[in-house]
Amino acid sequence: MHFTVKQAKEWLLQINDHMQEHKQELTRLDQAIGDGDHGINMARGFKEVVKKVNEKEYKTVGDIMQDAAMTIISKVGGAAGPLYGTAFLRMSLAFKDKVSIDYKTFTRGLDDALQGMKQRGKATTGEKTILDVWEPVVLFLEEGESFQPQALADTAKHAMEKTKNMIATKGRAAYFKEKSKGHIDPGAMSSYYIFLAMAEVLEE
Ligand code: ADP
Ligand code: MG
Ligand code: MG
Repeated sequence: MHFTVKQAKEWLLQINDHMQEHKQELTRLDQAIGDGDHGINMARGFKEVVKKVNEKEYKTVGDIMQDAAMTIISKVGGAAGPLYGTAFLRMSLAFKDKVSIDYKTFTRGLDDALQGMKQRGKATTGEKTILDVWEPVVLFLEEGESFQPQALADTAKHAMEKTKNMIATKGRAAYFKEKSKGHIDPGAMSSYYIFLAMAEVLEE
């Protein structure tokens, strides 16, 4: 894998396409176990990310990821904004000053993102959140030697579906207690689209 500014930009653009396309679906999930704004938050935020990165020429992957992170933090809002913002900020630090990133560095950047979100949200896996998609994906990347798009997308999808039977203990969904069971977590679903976008635009 050679993850460059071009690939980073394509990834962000593809994430935005999914957020616009699946805005209603994400909002419906958040209506069941939250306040019904997750689709709106993500669609608004990533639209701004695309606007931002389309305006500028970037020399390093760290720089484009940093702009994405700052825009996510200021425009997504809710619980997801600071969490995804942290993820992209950690990636921007891991990819700082680099023009091309290999598989190992890419994997390390995603692990840093995961650890950053765990700290930021004071959460762990099994609590029906975005972490329940990020952790299996990072473990899958760590087990591999090269980027496997289809298997990565399958891993993310399976992980997202598994949140359906979990009971939420973090975020707004935690107020629903046992009633949160039976619904896929909206953040897990948006994370799935982030990784689906990755699988769609990045090659082995
Ligand atoms: P809000 O709940 O503030 O309206 P969103 O609807 O945009 O924010 O995002 C909700 C999602 O954020 C949840 O579905 C869950 O995946 C994620 N989330 C909430 N709290 C946490 C946390 N402490 N750690 C990790 N993810 C969390
Ligand atoms: Mg919400
Ligand atoms: Mg909200």
